[in-house]
Amino acid sequence: TRFHDLDLPLDVMHAISDLGYQYASPIQAQSLPHTLNGHDVLGKGQTGTGKTAAFLLTIIDDLLRHPIEGERYAGEARALVIAPTRELVMQIADDAKNLTKYTDLKVHTLVGGMDYGKQQQRLNNELVDILVATPGRLLDFCGNQDVYLDQVEILVLDEADRMLDMGFIPQVRRIVRQTPKKSHRQTLFFSATFTDEVMNLADQWTDQAIKIEI
Ligand code: AMP
Repeated sequence: TRFHDLDLPLDVMHAISDLGYQYASPIQAQSLPHTLNGHDVLGKGQTGTGKTAAFLLTIIDDLLRHPIEGERYAGEARALVIAPTRELVMQIADDAKNLTKYTDLKVHTLVGGMDYGKQQQRLNNELVDILVATPGRLLDFCGNQDVYLDQVEILVLDEADRMLDMGFIPQVRRIVRQTPKKSHRQTLFFSATFTDEVMNLADQWTDQAIKIEI
């Protein structure tokens, strides 16, 4: 599949071309036709498969096609990506910035171990479209009412099995509860393994998800 066949916005096509991507990777080719139509996806894929671009392109396409008409408020994210580690969050945010460089979309990161005040200041001063975060730090921001998740249109859970192994699920559960219910959001759930525990979470958080294994 070529990216040209996916009918992505021109500004996104330019960014893809700058990155040198020509053909969609298998996970992208299998998931994008569904996710661009709003379907939930349950993706089995490890790093190196191109899953990051798969969910980011879904987010960016949605946000560009459905601009918010009314007033927007500081801290209200339109898309939320939760990942287990700071490194992964930074990598996802880098990809997101590359893919949105010709758009007005704003990417923010919230990770533990970094200056809270700086992250807070930026959130209070600039709208946030795509929020990429680790669970603990995100909950701090939600608790302090610096971030609101009730307007989230797309929720991505990346490396769910690792979040389980690291004991983050109670925190993730509290985060997911603050987003719109699953029939009112799109959820993209990724994991390198599909154990019973992972499948159980996927069942709770996704709605008629299309399963993709690569
Ligand atoms: P990921 O699995 O998301 O960590 O991506 C692995 C690497 O593949 C990253 O360096 C991406 O920039 C790159 N990549 C993602 N999609 C494509 C594509 N369609 N063509 C070429 N490279 C890609």
